[in-house]
Amino acid sequence: MSDRNTTLFERARRHIPGGVNSPVRAFRSVGGAPRFFVSGNGARATDVNGDEYLDYVGSWGPLILGHAHPEVVAAVQAAAADGLSFGAPTEGEVELADLLCRLVPSMDMVRLVSSGTEATMSAIRLARGYTGRDLLVKFEGCYHGHSDSLLVKAGSGLLTFGNPSSGGVPADVAKHTMVLDYNDAAQVEQAFAAHGNKIAAVIVEPVAGNMNLIAPDPAFLTTLRACCTQYGAVLIFDEVMTGFRVGLECAQGRYGVTPDMTTLAKVIGGGMPLGAFGGRRDIMEKIAPLGPVYQAGTLSGNPLAVAAGLVTLRLIQAPGFYADLSRKTADLCSGLSQLARKHGQVFSAQSVGGMFGLYFRAECPQNYADVLECDTAAFSRFFHAMLAAGYYFAPSAYEAGFVSAAHTDADIAATLAAADAAFGRLS
Ligand code: PLP
Repeated sequence: MSDRNTTLFERARRHIPGGVNSPVRAFRSVGGAPRFFVSGNGARATDVNGDEYLDYVGSWGPLILGHAHPEVVAAVQAAAADGLSFGAPTEGEVELADLLCRLVPSMDMVRLVSSGTEATMSAIRLARGYTGRDLLVKFEGCYHGHSDSLLVKAGSGLLTFGNPSSGGVPADVAKHTMVLDYNDAAQVEQAFAAHGNKIAAVIVEPVAGNMNLIAPDPAFLTTLRACCTQYGAVLIFDEVMTGFRVGLECAQGRYGVTPDMTTLAKVIGGGMPLGAFGGRRDIMEKIAPLGPVYQAGTLSGNPLAVAAGLVTLRLIQAPGFYADLSRKTADLCSGLSQLARKHGQVFSAQSVGGMFGLYFRAECPQNYADVLECDTAAFSRFFHAMLAAGYYFAPSAYEAGFVSAAHTDADIAATLAAADAAFGRLS
């Protein structure tokens, strides 16, 4: 049988760099051709060969209700029939803003954009404009989209300013970003003691989901809050991934730490391009047209994306939604850990709400250096064994996974049965 994934990948590479429109889709670290999907239904997605997979990627987080949820699809279809875009205000935007400000503890006001990158980039400009300072603090291994200020890695020494982590980012821009170690509260205190009156903002993933999954040490988050308050810096929780993924009040509600600003995307768009940044009223009032910090977007608050987001945010408020999602995700992780032990594999796993991390390493990691110790060759073998059995996990050892409300207990049990065989083959 011809493999249409491979044929399409070859064709894609002629006119699309690397054959993909976002690098992590390329299967670079695990090898092989990416799957080209044609349809999705609930927890499952089907590729161009007609092979069906139980999907633990969920479009990298947005699909908390699963693929093509009938109510989300109907809302998008109805919105499309009424007009694709107006470049003018709509009632749906007002409803979504009201809802976000009711659900997210830190949000007095919010502005809608079209991606997570736009949300974080805009939040940072606003924090700089609000404080009149330039310096930004981020953490090694956290990803906040691909804007220049955020594609920065640690400088040569502790507490030195950053270097570009991507070609094309001017060193002059990167030097305004300081990169510290995740979960290291003492280092944060040192950085503030040395540079506190120059720091405009600290941006953090309150649960890190872009270096596999790392749960925050609660003292880390409270130290960030205390230092930002003491030195007048803006604390930004980048909840693009964790927002409505780890709970209805997002990570800030779960851990009881309220940032000054929050960025969102993924779940709030229900699979459509939608992001948001918001927070304290006195900060948000600095944005145009009210204040001097400029930010704009032709398709911002797009009616189709807003329609998908409104239905998604309504459905996730069902009683027991997060308890059920969290239990299934935890069952997956504990089941995988037990099976790995049975087969003598060095492996650990953990979940927070509906997101999870799998590590070919004895213990769950605390920071980026720990993640780099994972056995990526073992991960690739596990990934391909599961893929061949019809289970689609993130094609990289450095990415988190996602369970949706459409995944059933039977799906989790079937995944564990397949993993039993996969771990058996690894040992
Ligand atoms: N922030 C976080 C925490 C993310 O996980 C991502 C994307 O994965 C982004 C920002 C960027 O979002 P987008 O890909 O929508 O630009």
